[in-house]
Amino acid sequence: MRIIADTDVCVGAGQCVLTDPETFDQSEEDGTVIVLAEHPADERKAREAVHICPSQALSIEE
Ligand code: SF4
Repeated sequence: MRIIADTDVCVGAGQCVLTDPETFDQSEEDGTVIVLAEHPADERKAREAVHICPSQALSIEE
């Protein structure tokens, strides 16, 4: 699996970082998501973070 983030859609809510801090971080400038690991070690956690994102800025490519 590969994580794809659309920073134009991200509202910087930070839910992804709270759910999976090993895979996601937030920009210090505007709070938008930064993907630390495109291929996450813990896929279950990463999938949860994708589903929890309120703006649907995250998606998964299998
Ligand atoms: S949860 Fe979604 S909207 Fe919030 S920072 Fe992460 S990608 Fe952006």
